[in-house]
Amino acid sequence: MKCPYCGKEMEKGYIHSRDCVVWRTKKSVLPALGILAADAVDLGTSDAAGHFVVVYRCADCKKFLIDTENGNHTDSD
Ligand SMILES: [Zn+2]
Repeated sequence: MKCPYCGKEMEKGYIHSRDCVVWRTKKSVLPALGILAADAVDLGTSDAAGHFVVVYRCADCKKFLIDTENGNHTDSD
């Protein structure tokens, strides 16, 4: 994955969670299962290691990128 800011190769990694990782339009107290919130977008998937989201990092630009179309639901390193 190339950084969209500088064009250098990004480092692949993971954001881990015991429950789920969701994106929401507003910051608020999450219910026990955050994915149940009406505006929640589930960013990841889970396996035996727990819930995770594949995230690419550019250390130079200090940016993190989540590609919700490619890889987040199939990768389980
Ligand atoms: Zn960059």
